[in-house]
Amino acid sequence: MDYRELEGGREFVARLEHGRDWREQIEAFAAGEGIDAAFYLGLGAVQDATVYFYDQTEQEYYPETFDEPLEVTSCVGNVSHLDGERFAHTHVTLSREDGTVLGGHLDAATTFAGELYVREFDAHLEREHDETTDLDLWPL
Ligand code: ZN
Repeated sequence: MDYRELEGGREFVARLEHGRDWREQIEAFAAGEGIDAAFYLGLGAVQDATVYFYDQTEQEYYPETFDEPLEVTSCVGNVSHLDGERFAHTHVTLSREDGTVLGGHLDAATTFAGELYVREFDAHLEREHDETTDLDLWPL
């Protein structure tokens, strides 16, 4: 395990805008506030969602799109830089009307409503390609 000690930065609460993409709003917010590293928690509801599953053998992301209203029962993510842009790495658990859940790495979702807690860190995290996993990870 690699790690680095960080100092905490600012804290935010935010309400996501109806009709806009969940992740894109977080990335735009981070860019606007100059956030270079953060963790966030969120909850709410979306009108659709595309989640990715990473096949560890193939080392490929496979998308699955759900075009239906879903509750965001849990959303956890972080913000760092990827290819020079802010990237909100986001995982979600989403529930249906009958209480069943689905989840994964969130690529896109149209926000119905959303609330966030964001904790900034006094650091600049830039993702780099990792040979073992073929993922863009933090070089700590
Ligand atoms: Zn992921």
